[in-house]
Amino acid sequence: MPEPSLSSPFYQALRQALAQRGRSVSGICPNDDDVARRVLHDYGAMFVGAKNILPPPVCVFTSEDQVSQFQAAAGRAAETIGDATIELQPAAMQALLRARESARAEGLDITPRDGPEAARRDYADTVRLWNSRFLPALDHWKNAGRLTEAQVDRLRALPIKEQVSEVLELETKGIFFSKDLSKSVLYSIAAPGTSQHIAMLAFDANEFLDARVREIMAEHGWFQTVLSDLPHFTFLGLQESELPQRGLKPVEVNNQKFWIPDV
Ligand SMILES: [Zn+2]
Repeated sequence: MPEPSLSSPFYQALRQALAQRGRSVSGICPNDDDVARRVLHDYGAMFVGAKNILPPPVCVFTSEDQVSQFQAAAGRAAETIGDATIELQPAAMQALLRARESARAEGLDITPRDGPEAARRDYADTVRLWNSRFLPALDHWKNAGRLTEAQVDRLRALPIKEQVSEVLELETKGIFFSKDLSKSVLYSIAAPGTSQHIAMLAFDANEFLDARVREIMAEHGWFQTVLSDLPHFTFLGLQESELPQRGLKPVEVNNQKFWIPDV
């Protein structure tokens, strides 16, 4: 894979989007922080979305306080769909409800996958989800003889940020931490403090396999921007034709179209 370039379409669009908010790329995501950069390249589409959404002030949140402050500033709209009450940024919720109306008018539906976790998550949720992949994978690789007991104990005891960094390093050697242990953990769940769900700009839909549902979501500004995360939609609040000029490029996986940062 070619090295990400600071003069790539995504970085150009990102600098412009952040400048309009008085921010800089290194301000939200330090140059020398490899984990933060990786997160930016995998989940960064939300930073180049429409003006009526608030992207996070940082690529990686490090505490519950910081997340609560951001979520209060962005505003939270709640809605009950089926038996799950979900929360999103107001513009994202409005667009989702409109998309759902369109779907229902065609005899389809758009419903939250896995209850309230389909939309807003807090910091603790992302840590819990991390552990749900990280801890079983450690046991697996220990039993498979790829990690020693001492290595596993050490990894468990590390601060979260260092766990993420070491996991990404191990994955370069084929020791993967996704649920099925076949791909990077970042395609399975977000690193703690980094999810688009924390930004309240993400929604996991049960009906993601339906091409017409994906089309309706896109017509309402909801796109798939995290490669290989098949049920996951991101609210950008833009028309599909605007995405290339925002530094996003289309990639197809499993017949689904993903708009990912062109770095
Ligand atoms: Zn998701």
